[in-house]
Amino acid sequence: MTDKITTDGITTNQYYELCKTIKDLLNSKAEEYIKNHEVKQFLSDDPFPETEKNKIPDIERVYYLLINRLKNWVCKEQIKKDGGSFWKKKFRNKPYGKCSCGDDFHIGDEIEFHHKIRDGRHPIPTHKKCHAQIKNKK
Ligand SMILES: [Zn+2]
Repeated sequence: MTDKITTDGITTNQYYELCKTIKDLLNSKAEEYIKNHEVKQFLSDDPFPETEKNKIPDIERVYYLLINRLKNWVCKEQIKKDGGSFWKKKFRNKPYGKCSCGDDFHIGDEIEFHHKIRDGRHPIPTHKKCHAQIKNKK
């Protein structure tokens, strides 16, 4: 596969390598955790309905339980660095500075937050209408 440079500098091959590492780790952990009594209990307490056509093996269910846990962890890690809902609520209640359109923010403005890229910086506050324009430019 051709390695491509992306906008954040992480190449496509580096990204695929990371994904494979995570997938291998999750598969390995699923095989480990499926042996736990509590996990077995969860799987038997929550079986697929008889009518469900897309039944998957228990090991795959555990893999997807871990995917869900990973997703929650990713959200928490992002919130730690990009301000989270508390910072956004505080900004909405008492906005300051200028929007990308050049106008000042005022109390009561509909404000949305633009993540140029999630690299740990706070998102950029924008008027709701201005955010729509920024997103359409992409
Ligand atoms: Zn604006």
